[in-house]
Amino acid sequence: MKITAVLERTLPISRYADPAIPPGGLDTSAVAIVTDLVRDGAPVVGYGFASIGRFAQGGLIRDRFAPRLLAAADLGDAETGGPDPDRAWTAMMAGEKPGSHGERSVAVGALDMAIWDVAAKAAGLPLWRYLARRLGRDEALAAAPVPVYAGGGYYYPTDDRARLRDEMAMFRDAGYTRAKIKLGAAGLTEDTGRIETAAEALGGAGNLAVDAVYSYGADTAMTAAKAYAPYGLWWFEDICDPLDYPLLAEVASAYGPPIAAGEATFGTADAHNLLRYGGLRADRDILLFDIAHCYGLPEYIRMIELAEGMGWNRRSFWPHGGHLFTLHAVAALGLGGAEVNPHNFQPFGGLTDDGVVTGGHATPPELPGIGFEGRAALADLFDDLLRRGA
Ligand code: MG
Repeated sequence: MKITAVLERTLPISRYADPAIPPGGLDTSAVAIVTDLVRDGAPVVGYGFASIGRFAQGGLIRDRFAPRLLAAADLGDAETGGPDPDRAWTAMMAGEKPGSHGERSVAVGALDMAIWDVAAKAAGLPLWRYLARRLGRDEALAAAPVPVYAGGGYYYPTDDRARLRDEMAMFRDAGYTRAKIKLGAAGLTEDTGRIETAAEALGGAGNLAVDAVYSYGADTAMTAAKAYAPYGLWWFEDICDPLDYPLLAEVASAYGPPIAAGEATFGTADAHNLLRYGGLRADRDILLFDIAHCYGLPEYIRMIELAEGMGWNRRSFWPHGGHLFTLHAVAALGLGGAEVNPHNFQPFGGLTDDGVVTGGHATPPELPGIGFEGRAALADLFDDLLRRGA
């Protein structure tokens, strides 16, 4: 089995469903991996993207990682006829030294996502089932609906509070019981107002996570933590600079409710430092590592094993991303739950077009692979990438 083409296209991606709101310049890489495996008269193709929140990785993909996949003589899995994701990962990382993650981990993660898509398609299985079987996990447990929450709640340039209330009501009406909003970019008065607005719409602050997007520093983090602690939030996320472990540990020593961290952590070595020095508490805190930003699933599985070896339960893992790939991984790996981006970061965020959320739970699609084809707008995007090339 050989990979015959790797296609990448850089695409803008917006935090907002409303096209009238400026997207802020964020982009991502959509990738397609074409194999020489033929089914129903056509090559089997896998799709992926660089997840959400970091930028496109076309340069690294084209210059370094795609050529290694294309040069590999045989990446095949004898059982399925498709690629073996672990062999593909090893081929991509040939010659790479430890450290120096930069955004290398995102480039590898985007391609890894497409590798898993094509591997599961070659096996004729949805990714969650392919992954559960591959890892010897209980398929009946993996088939159970996954706890999910709605990601969103970005600041609106006008009518912020009213629009935030409407957004939370929309999530609730769509079957979500919990949601996450942003704060930290306004003053504490404004931000506690956002908390109260969202919490009221969600039936209590225990259903609300808040993401400060690393906005607090040594002079503000403790004040914010003291202001937010009485609400009993579901979790308080991305409090300070992701490498400021002493400050995170200081907040964790004083803030009682759960803290969520790790979204800007790029692999096992980074995760080890966070868990050693960040003061996080295994009995309540949440680990957000984004699978595609951490070199993909092979590395992410090592991160779970690392955390378990340090006394954590894998239910503490709620991977960042808000898209279908994450949902499959959470189901198959038995993690705590998954973020879903129902209306921002389109067309990548969210479930399939016919996907439903019931009582705050969802199941990954039964389509072969990740099931991106079950999102019409995303299927069109990948189809165009395949037909017209990068
Ligand atoms: Mg975050």
